[in-house]
Amino acid sequence: MYLVLLGPPGAGKGTQAKMIEQEFGISQISTGDIIRESIRQQTEWGKKANEYVKEGKLVPDEVVIGIIQEQLSQEKFQAGFMLDGFPRTLQQAEALASMLDNMGKRLDGVLYFEVNEEEVIQRLSARRICENCQATYNLLSKPPKEDQICDACGGKLIQRADDRPEVIRQRLKTYKEQTAPLVKWYEDRGLLYRLKSEGSIAEVYQQVKKVLNEIQEKNG
Ligand SMILES: [Zn+2]
Repeated sequence: MYLVLLGPPGAGKGTQAKMIEQEFGISQISTGDIIRESIRQQTEWGKKANEYVKEGKLVPDEVVIGIIQEQLSQEKFQAGFMLDGFPRTLQQAEALASMLDNMGKRLDGVLYFEVNEEEVIQRLSARRICENCQATYNLLSKPPKEDQICDACGGKLIQRADDRPEVIRQRLKTYKEQTAPLVKWYEDRGLLYRLKSEGSIAEVYQQVKKVLNEIQEKNG
């Protein structure tokens, strides 16, 4: 199965991806990770990517596609893949479609994890980090034993600037705006599956499983 995962920060995509990986044997490809990995391995496309990275430039689409293609020959991707962090734009979606086409494959589905904004803001803005040892806490789901104090080292717990409600709200808004054309493009092609990222991890996963079973049936 060839899948794309879409969803804003805080949608719990990463957790769901791990569960899919375990049950369905499909490996996740996080584009940031594979770009770094191919640079480290000095693959043909990794070397090209490095020319941009070392100058602080964005790695262009054709190079990212080259890297994805290079990685796909690996044994662990024989059952398919889940792409996370790519595509982000229509041009990238088109590039991905033609890459798969050239390989005689096609995308099976796009899982779009939709979030309840207020819920995400509440959850993410409850995060705290120890300014001393960097241990992470969440006032809602993983509070420290003593208010504002790190269990591990007694350091002071602080909120990262990124976790402030107004910053999270802006990030969600930006994500939605940037992703809208992509969502529509996949929807027009009958590939989009909307998932409500609400409730427990297990509840969200039940929706995921239903979609993946549906796709498997379609594929025969
Ligand atoms: Zn600490």
